[in-house]
Amino acid sequence: MNYRHHFHAGNFADVMKHAVLVRLIRALQKKPSGFVYLDTHAGRGGYDLVREAVGETLARTPEWPDGIGRLWQRTDLPPGVAEYLQLVREFDRARGNLEPTVRFYPGSPRIAATLARGEERLALCERHPEEFGALSAEFSASKRSRGGEGTRRGNRISLHEMDGYGALRAMLPPPERRALVLIDPPYEAQDEFASAASALGEALRRFPSGTYVLWYPLTQRARVQEFFTAIVGLNPPPTLALELAIAGDDAPRKLKGCGLVMVNPPWQFDHEARGMLAYLASVLAVEAGGGSRITWLVPEK
Ligand code: SAM
Repeated sequence: MNYRHHFHAGNFADVMKHAVLVRLIRALQKKPSGFVYLDTHAGRGGYDLVREAVGETLARTPEWPDGIGRLWQRTDLPPGVAEYLQLVREFDRARGNLEPTVRFYPGSPRIAATLARGEERLALCERHPEEFGALSAEFSASKRSRGGEGTRRGNRISLHEMDGYGALRAMLPPPERRALVLIDPPYEAQDEFASAASALGEALRRFPSGTYVLWYPLTQRARVQEFFTAIVGLNPPPTLALELAIAGDDAPRKLKGCGLVMVNPPWQFDHEARGMLAYLASVLAVEAGGGSRITWLVPEK
């Protein structure tokens, strides 16, 4: 368990994932009934990019300048991306940054908590003790729990120091009968693609009508294809793959892009995502050969 998200916070992958997350939450909120937002790999919830990029022991090259840093001064944002950037700006300002460059960056739990209505419930899971401690500090008004719940600004938020895959078994199906599940593992372990696919399968058996978002890294195209085959083999409901590549498949850099497998996307989400991802691909590209792709792994009927 060496992965620490603060070294990567605000990078291109966070930008893509979080911009999509904002639109997805908004799309699900078109219905009046609330849903549970389950974040299986929550991270800290909020990041100080200046302090954390330096790390505890050694200086690292920060990743956020090629992520959120590239969007910060843009004035040509498509509406889908604009709301995400506005949310980040407000978070950054609320934490006290008065500089023209971004300093404080919200993680997925904070983004979901900011957008949640009183109808929504948030269950945030993080297995790493230090990261869980930081998550607890970020949501200090909420009660730490292994199952209990806290209240913050009318939203119900519970924090769980536990394995996120175990949480899928423990928390689904939800009493609300509506769920948005973000599965965002670190892919440190060699078998994480297989673990993530099998956890998704288990979650779908328990609760097939939920909306699931599973993040994956694009390091080798063949690996992603294998992953897609495993996902399709689960025989899931309609499933979309959204991908953003900042370099071509043959580029020497390890992380060439990332993607989100989305089960049960809201109606016409593929149309909405197309413009957003094309824009992000053009702004975040580091080498020729990148771009965005939207593919139905299992089409809508
Ligand atoms: N979702 C976060 C966001 O978008 O802001 C980032 C999460 S980061 C990619 C992955 C997190 O999962 C790390 O904080 C790591 O400590 C945690 N983690 C690793 N293995 C885990 C597991 N089995 N269950 C829950 N959390 C885990």
